[in-house]
Amino acid sequence: MPFDISRLKAQFPLLQDEQLHYLDNAATAQMPDAVLEALRRFETTQRANVHSGVHRLARKAIEAYEGARNSVARFINARSSSEVIFTYGATSAINLLAQSFGESLDEGDEIVISRLEHHSNILPWQKLRKQRGVTLKVLPVTAEGRLDLDHLGDCVTPRCRLIAVTHCSNVTGALTDVGPIVAAARAVGAKVMLDGAQHVPHGPVDVQGLGVDFYAFSGHKMFGPTGIGVLWGRHDLLQAMPPFMVGGQMIEQVTMEDASFAPPPRRFEAGTPPIAGAIGLGAAAQWLEELDWAAAAAQELRLTERILNGLSDHRTIRLLGPNGVQQRRGVISFNLKGADTKDLCRVMDEYGVALRCGHHCAQPLMTAFGLPGTARASLAPYNDDADVDAFLNALEDAVRRLR
Ligand code: PMP
Repeated sequence: MPFDISRLKAQFPLLQDEQLHYLDNAATAQMPDAVLEALRRFETTQRANVHSGVHRLARKAIEAYEGARNSVARFINARSSSEVIFTYGATSAINLLAQSFGESLDEGDEIVISRLEHHSNILPWQKLRKQRGVTLKVLPVTAEGRLDLDHLGDCVTPRCRLIAVTHCSNVTGALTDVGPIVAAARAVGAKVMLDGAQHVPHGPVDVQGLGVDFYAFSGHKMFGPTGIGVLWGRHDLLQAMPPFMVGGQMIEQVTMEDASFAPPPRRFEAGTPPIAGAIGLGAAAQWLEELDWAAAAAQELRLTERILNGLSDHRTIRLLGPNGVQQRRGVISFNLKGADTKDLCRVMDEYGVALRCGHHCAQPLMTAFGLPGTARASLAPYNDDADVDAFLNALEDAVRRLR
């Protein structure tokens, strides 16, 4: 079937306003009818708590919740759905990993992160450094805004226990070349976690093919609800990890003195989970699997190129990140010399063009670039030429007015 952008866009109620050009997808993407329907179905026909109920509604809720886990497992090619832990987002997934995997680490053990990371993949490790005396090693970035893998050899020593880096930058759109990272980790017996928050909206991920150990992402960036995310982990590793949060639903036996815990994934899902969110995420994963990804990727590449070319027409614009479209996604950060990025984004908004401005929760990266922040346009499969036309037109005016 040919890639029919208007049919695709028609599935998104929020995008039916022709005056809106939503280019803030890296912050939060919109939800298609299929996800909205799954949420409505749950709330109106299946709503009950999950895990232990035996009445008919509880059975329906459990079936829908575990069905969503299966859909997510298929989407990322997990070996089994028991490797999929529902969290509240990528941030809570990484915190879970840091606190749980972190319990096995000792003073002097090393964790490698990078300067390209979102704060969500920096702060949990800084916290662990304070708690357990682990050492953080930081991979630098290249001038193009990619992970500088030439420094892998300096950063990954025999004390390395984990490499935790982004799969796709939320600032520069650069894709990570995962192979050398996995090889470096394996050479010293370390594990690898990828922050996939910005990668999952761009198509199914193969966690087994990547050869990594953990993968974290959020639902709301992949056309699902907010307040839901996933930590995927290899079963043998999860099996050996202690819980992060403790409470209801995740136990085997509790006495007044002690407790034993359920196997993964329940061990890591204390309390009532975001049930509707998980079901919505399952629907989003199914929706993504059915999309013609080759066509969507070709379109994203073409629109990215149009935006990059349009930006480079202006001498007063500084583009951050890779100049070409190789090994990158449609996440494009730029600055207008002498102008505040907030003012720039306000002018763009006058034209209905929604961009993000600020440091994008990546202050160490901004410091490396010597900037307080950038404006950022980010694409999704429903973006079309009309969105890019509006972007380029608004940009002309912004450049004229803010110079
Ligand atoms: N990592 C990256 C690369 C991100 O872009 C984001 C969201 N901006 C996060 C982690 C955190 O995601 P969330 O706020 O949904 O937990």
